[in-house]
Amino acid sequence: MANSLYTAGSIGQIISANVIIVNDVPISTLLTDSRRIANAPEALFFALSNRRDGHQFISEAYESGVRNYVVSSKPAEPLLNANYLIVPNVLIALQTLAAHHRNQFELQVIGITGSNGKTIVKEWLYQLLVAEHNIVRSPKSYNSQIGVPLSVWNITAGNDLGIFEAGISTINEMDKLEAIIKPTVGILTHIGSAHDEGFSSRQEKVLEKLKLFKNSKLLIGHYDLLLDYQKDINPDLKQFTWSRQFNQADLYVFSETTIKGNYYLRAIYNKKEIECLVPFLDQASVENAITCWAAMLALGYSPVETDTRMEHLVPVSMRLEMKTGINDCSVIDDSYNSDIQSLEIALNFLEQQNQHPKKTLILSDIFQSGLSQEALYAQVAAMLHPEKIDRFIGVGESIQHFRDQFNIAEKHFYPDTEALLKDMARLNFNDETILLKGARNFEFERISRALVQKAHETVMEINLNALLNNLNYYKSQLQPGVKIMAMVKAFSYGSGTFEVANMLQYHKVDYLSVAYIDEGVALRQGGITLPIMVLNPEITAFDKLIEYKLQPEIYSFSLLSEFTKYLQLNDIVDYPIHLKIDTGMHRLGFEPADMDMLCDLLEVNTAVRVKSIFSHFVASDAEQHDAFTLKQIRRFEKAFRQIERTLGYQTIKHIANTSAISRWKVAQFDMVRLGIGLYGIDPSVKDTNALQPIATLKTSVSQVKKIKAGETIGYNRNGSLKKDGHIATVRIGYADGYLRAFGNGVGKMLIKGKLVPTVGNIAMDMCMLDVSDVEVKEGDEVIVFNEEQRIEELAKQIGTIPYEILTNISQRVKRVYFYE
Ligand SMILES: *Cc1c(COP(=O)(O)O)cnc(C)c1O
Repeated sequence: MANSLYTAGSIGQIISANVIIVNDVPISTLLTDSRRIANAPEALFFALSNRRDGHQFISEAYESGVRNYVVSSKPAEPLLNANYLIVPNVLIALQTLAAHHRNQFELQVIGITGSNGKTIVKEWLYQLLVAEHNIVRSPKSYNSQIGVPLSVWNITAGNDLGIFEAGISTINEMDKLEAIIKPTVGILTHIGSAHDEGFSSRQEKVLEKLKLFKNSKLLIGHYDLLLDYQKDINPDLKQFTWSRQFNQADLYVFSETTIKGNYYLRAIYNKKEIECLVPFLDQASVENAITCWAAMLALGYSPVETDTRMEHLVPVSMRLEMKTGINDCSVIDDSYNSDIQSLEIALNFLEQQNQHPKKTLILSDIFQSGLSQEALYAQVAAMLHPEKIDRFIGVGESIQHFRDQFNIAEKHFYPDTEALLKDMARLNFNDETILLKGARNFEFERISRALVQKAHETVMEINLNALLNNLNYYKSQLQPGVKIMAMVKAFSYGSGTFEVANMLQYHKVDYLSVAYIDEGVALRQGGITLPIMVLNPEITAFDKLIEYKLQPEIYSFSLLSEFTKYLQLNDIVDYPIHLKIDTGMHRLGFEPADMDMLCDLLEVNTAVRVKSIFSHFVASDAEQHDAFTLKQIRRFEKAFRQIERTLGYQTIKHIANTSAISRWKVAQFDMVRLGIGLYGIDPSVKDTNALQPIATLKTSVSQVKKIKAGETIGYNRNGSLKKDGHIATVRIGYADGYLRAFGNGVGKMLIKGKLVPTVGNIAMDMCMLDVSDVEVKEGDEVIVFNEEQRIEELAKQIGTIPYEILTNISQRVKRVYFYE
């Protein structure tokens, strides 16, 4: 991040740009996202064109203080004091600069690729090697055509080892990443089905991945996989392989057992038997651990030393978790590591949260930055904008020496975590968003435990990245200029209020919509400033509607007249409203026959201003009703034309819900109303990878019982086992939203990857599962639904629709939000 090796002018030369240089300033930071601005005076903004053209965001970056830009066309009106580097292709310029930077250093670099496990292997190698190396590595899973250059840019003269991951999704991508990473040592992890669609065959995919190693000296990988590709691997490339099957491999793993919750591996290496104990049991972790084991041996570590280090591996959690805290706080928990890059990501997430008036950062010492302490904390301090953080709590011997650097209104420093915990009462956490960011050995999980509300052990996890993925999918389906109204009614279909809305606001949807006024008020109190439409405004709460700047749906003459009266009484004119037309749903709305009268009323009404005219489809997802859907479109067009003619101004027209977005492109009009698709469910989307389920509902086992065949289980003696077996009682019942209809074997849950049926009736707070075929103990995790056991499946089991399953999950089930 900080290297003043470059200036705007010198970078112009490196990337062969045409330049407009006003002031040739030093450049130390590269930016690709106008919402994530750090170190603006020394930053260079690359106007990349992904889904949207990066040139649109230049003015936003300029407002944040950025003055240097890489662009693909000469600006019509250059901004004052701004430098421009003009290149044919902005992405290639970024990659060229990173490759140049890489070439300035002689360090050892480990390059990791494969379908799965890249990030885990990278993080574990970091844990295994950090004792004697100053390591630079990819932040989180930055492994794309953009992520790799940004990672490699972090190399400084202090580093003696780099560990970078490379991910590709189609052919001809790896050569570019190879030129940037230039790995001296290569690691090929597991090859699975991810991105198969980008390649004509599995073989083509593997060959593309192997290109990363064309200039490496050593390759570490799975013997069974590499065997098929010997003729494609450069004969000068030394290989170190592992296998569970072939004893020709350098590391032949011949025995795998578990000992007291650890996994015990034995293998033959250099003709001798060696062993290794790893603190993980799941197969994916074990495979990643074997890859690390092989890598350590290949790098020359002794088997004994390797074993000692492997035993201390800690799980890699790449995600930020946001939980409900004590005293109305939200806690963002990121105790996985503390380095500058991940701090930047976490700060950015903190910035998105507007639900509390105050923001607090608790940060520990940062290790292994490759910078001097002075430079490190100066950089950290520069990342903390006084307007965005209200208080700062530093924990650690080092950080407290630099207290004067932090220009934040309220600050506290503690030598260690213990001292902070002792002082909790005085810190008086209340109605604030708290970001916890600490290096492992500070054990910030203890602070987290003190700050987070105790959870009833059934939680619904919401993956905000998946939400974002789904939003972006629908954006990609829109005709140019079409706006998005995100439907966040009913607690965002059960997934949360301000947490989901804040994310949508940050990612620039145009409108939000809720069912009732109270829901809108809650969003405003959670910091939402987007326009909000209320579908069902209650006449008794017009005062709140106006106080909180909510915009009503007007669906009937009586509502129009009541609302107009209220506005006139309060001397309000031009209040934004949304007119609902009933084109066939027969729920709410003006009928086509009402149009003349409606127009007559609107013509003389100065109290309201019609922001939008809309209608709602009955069955936009169903082919058998397509003729009716078309009829609805025609009725809608006729109605809005007549109204707009009367009004004399343009309104926003919208009718499409989720299923209509891709099925009825002609019906996108000016805006679409995106509901269930945002939450990962849309039967009209045929590409199974396009949408990601956002919710996981999990609970746990409170007791396991031995049951004899024929004994009855639960209320009314409805359940029993056919053979002697075991049942597990789990902490979820109909009061949590797990409906009684799931009882007696209709519903199934996942325990240790196995589907097990319910047995007996579902009770209010609990139910029982038949676990005769799985080894289960108290406290084991139980999945009700996730991306494997899908909500759609549950809906089918009890003959309902996914909407009902999602919105039924009761408020007593804690929501935890993840952001990676
Ligand atoms: C709920 C709702 C939507 C969203 O429907 P989905 O099928 O979830 O996309 C759109 N418009 C109105 C009026 C709604 O009530």
